[in-house]
Amino acid sequence: MNQKNVNTCLVEARLTSITFSFKRIWAFIVGIFSVPKSPITEEQLLQDAEDILQQHRMQVCELLMKPLTPKVEITFSINGTTPIAATSGTNIGLNLQYFQTHDDPGAIVHEIVHAIEQAPDYTGEFWWMIEGIADFIRYKAELGTLDRGDPRHGYKEAADFFNHYYNSDAEKYKALVTSVNAGVLLSNIDQLVQDYLATG
Ligand SMILES: [Zn+2]
Repeated sequence: MNQKNVNTCLVEARLTSITFSFKRIWAFIVGIFSVPKSPITEEQLLQDAEDILQQHRMQVCELLMKPLTPKVEITFSINGTTPIAATSGTNIGLNLQYFQTHDDPGAIVHEIVHAIEQAPDYTGEFWWMIEGIADFIRYKAELGTLDRGDPRHGYKEAADFFNHYYNSDAEKYKALVTSVNAGVLLSNIDQLVQDYLATG
């Protein structure tokens, strides 16, 4: 290696060293500003749930055809034994671990529907309507999806059943919602299911 090459090598080494140092400084700066987000706390989750309630209460009442006042007093609590969230009376239990790993406000809207509706009957032939209306309202809040299929076999399928009558026949939608609220199965429910399935 001649002197010229030696000088060139020294310059290259210095430039490499400067570049390396710059990269380290940059990585340090990026590191400062990208501290991993800490998981949601119990207090934050309860506050978020309260905010979701304030934001969606009016729409839930409208779609359930329930008066806005007197207000149903809903409380939230942390419940580690429920898989996601569950309503008991007017209390909604939330699984903190689930919400620490899932951004799922729709699950809270679904429970708010149960808490406001206070449907009196959750029997084998009625559950799908209770879950269907809850997931239908979650969908209307733009926090859920629908599925096509037999409404008696799944939440999202039942939600699609409610959505169908909401869009196509206001009187039938009203009759369905009134029936869930009262816990009285409509005498023509099988026909309504058949008519819905025939539209697919
Ligand atoms: Zn439910």
